[in-house]
Amino acid sequence: MTRTLIKSAGQTLAGCCAIGKIHKINQSQEFNAKKNIDKQEIEKELKKFEDSITKANQDIDKTLLHLADSDDENFHKIIKVHKSILNDPEIKKDIAQLIQTKLHSMETAINKKFLEIEEKFTSIKNPYLKERIKDYKFVKDSLISKSNLFDLKKISEPTILVIEEISPGQVINFHKNKNLVGICLKHGSRTSHASIILKSLNLTSIIQLEKNYQFLEEGAQIVLNAIENYIILNPNKDDLQKCEKEIEAEKIKEAELRKLIDKPSFTKSKKRIKIRANIDFEEEVQVAQKNGAHGVGLLRTEMFYIEKNSLPSVKEQFQYYKKIVSQFQNSVIIRTLDFGGDKSFGAIDSVKEENPNLGMRGIRFSLKNREIFATQLEAILMASAFGKIKILLPMVSKVQEVTESKKILESCKKKLDKENLPYDKNIKIGIMIEIPSVVFLIEEFAEVCDFFSIGTNDLTQYTLAVDRNNQQVKEHYDECDPAVFCALKTVLKVAKQKNIPTSLCGEIASNPEKIDKFLDLGVDELSVNTSSILTIKKKVINHK
Ligand code: PEP
Ligand code: MG
Repeated sequence: MTRTLIKSAGQTLAGCCAIGKIHKINQSQEFNAKKNIDKQEIEKELKKFEDSITKANQDIDKTLLHLADSDDENFHKIIKVHKSILNDPEIKKDIAQLIQTKLHSMETAINKKFLEIEEKFTSIKNPYLKERIKDYKFVKDSLISKSNLFDLKKISEPTILVIEEISPGQVINFHKNKNLVGICLKHGSRTSHASIILKSLNLTSIIQLEKNYQFLEEGAQIVLNAIENYIILNPNKDDLQKCEKEIEAEKIKEAELRKLIDKPSFTKSKKRIKIRANIDFEEEVQVAQKNGAHGVGLLRTEMFYIEKNSLPSVKEQFQYYKKIVSQFQNSVIIRTLDFGGDKSFGAIDSVKEENPNLGMRGIRFSLKNREIFATQLEAILMASAFGKIKILLPMVSKVQEVTESKKILESCKKKLDKENLPYDKNIKIGIMIEIPSVVFLIEEFAEVCDFFSIGTNDLTQYTLAVDRNNQQVKEHYDECDPAVFCALKTVLKVAKQKNIPTSLCGEIASNPEKIDKFLDLGVDELSVNTSSILTIKKKVINHK
């Protein structure tokens, strides 16, 4: 067996280095069932479908039972999502109808219905929402009994799973087997639900292996290096030793980082830098806390709407915000709906735009759809009775947008007063600094805002006129461009003069190689990815 080194294997996702035998799961395998049935078989087929739902429900309940003593809420939540898809009356009704009217076999009807759902997802650009299709695929597979393909219970030696894509539910099931030491995914995205969980489990994984997937064959021994992004097929003694050393080194590094959890984050020149968490999904709360986040610097609320795929009621939102804020002692900054751009979803009718990033996005959308905006503000106010909350407005380009929003907030407060409901009467309101017009008029904004949050993802996009999602112009997108720095300096100078707390919450704040430059500019509050909190803290502590 020849040793083969596959350099730049894919995209590194989590963990460090692993040695194991490949277990390859072929998901494209054709399902071997007959396509259609005879009229007299309808009842039998409907019964088979009912039985299949019952069996899948039992499997899910069994998994929930297994998890009963696990305190990882992520897992429970995802399993519950699967259960709600499985028992969705609309989906059930449509499948039964396909069996009755089109005389499809159960398998064909299930495949057809789920394909229809899948097609709806393909037109969606938003990567987070796109990933939700995996939950549907998981349920589909469970219904047509393909799920037994994923039974890893029998694995009794260190194994690396090679699979096209993975659903959060599969990650949950797999990780219980201690012999599963790594995962190679043919597809996948860094921001998917499954990836978030893989990161929180810190399971060694590489994604997007498209061009190298074919070389990974069942049973072969490999070294998977998810730090340096390589795979060695049939490794020699030296490779194995090197990998073992890396695993040891990583353990030491992690233990060192964990020691920083309770350490205050001061630079060497004794400057306090607050490090908060960016949170998109509720399941990240645990990771944020585990890593000692100083509250939440950016709660992107659009993910809650997107996941629900409908407009959440005041009560639903209130419960969601309350649940999150009551888990933090320090403040949680809730950003109002940043709908539009690439973050749109079916429940809201929106006109197709030529340039969505320059269109009906963020606060523009909220001010045009006041009922949706007021519902959200009301829910945030109600939750403010249960923890420290600040309100953050996205995509602001004009001072009037802030004053208008404040008026709506005041009317929400009056409504709650009438209902005798408690809320924080002095709730603070601030804006995202993402658009150059705000930088030009920063002194005026300082008069109407309690705090600023610098969103370098969009500020870079709008300052340099480079689409942040366009791979063709990715070389032109640079958060460290002198023009972006100039904008930051202007904002920080005025913020300091007027005593306005200002934090940096774009992706660059989570980049250990770049963060020093931003600390040099005078940034003293950061909001970062939950998994980067300790790495960034270390950079802060070692900063001059
Ligand atoms: C930003 O623009 O930097 C930001 C944090 O907001 P989002 O990435 O949600 O647009
Ligand atoms: Mg933004």
